[in-house]
Amino acid sequence: MSLKTITVRTENPQQLIDITHTARLIVRESGVTRGTCQVFIPHTTAAVTINENTDPNVKQDLLNILESVVPSKGTYLHTEGNAHAHAKASLIGSSIMVFIESGQLVLGTWQSIYLCEFDGPRTRNVLFRVTAG
Ligand code: ZN
Repeated sequence: MSLKTITVRTENPQQLIDITHTARLIVRESGVTRGTCQVFIPHTTAAVTINENTDPNVKQDLLNILESVVPSKGTYLHTEGNAHAHAKASLIGSSIMVFIESGQLVLGTWQSIYLCEFDGPRTRNVLFRVTAG
């Protein structure tokens, strides 16, 4: 399948946005029943991860933990004001992979795929590639 790009408008300086529903739609549209779904974010101040989808405090805890490690108002050499966002993006990572079986993403009951915004609000692209195999 060719690369599929979606656009997400983030609303806050830092937030996690659940994009699992979109990923499920892209997998369904692909017609792939067994394979992989790769998700990549082509930005240096945003990331993609998988985490719990039930208690919203998990998302906030993750943001709080990252903030304690890399404070937004810290002193950095990169002077654009978003050095913390670059660091957080690298700590979380820019891609994930999920298996596909029986045409469905193989995610745990409590797992969702999240776009992680660290320097919003912005318009972000997220790339998906579904591969059979
Ligand atoms: Zn920067």
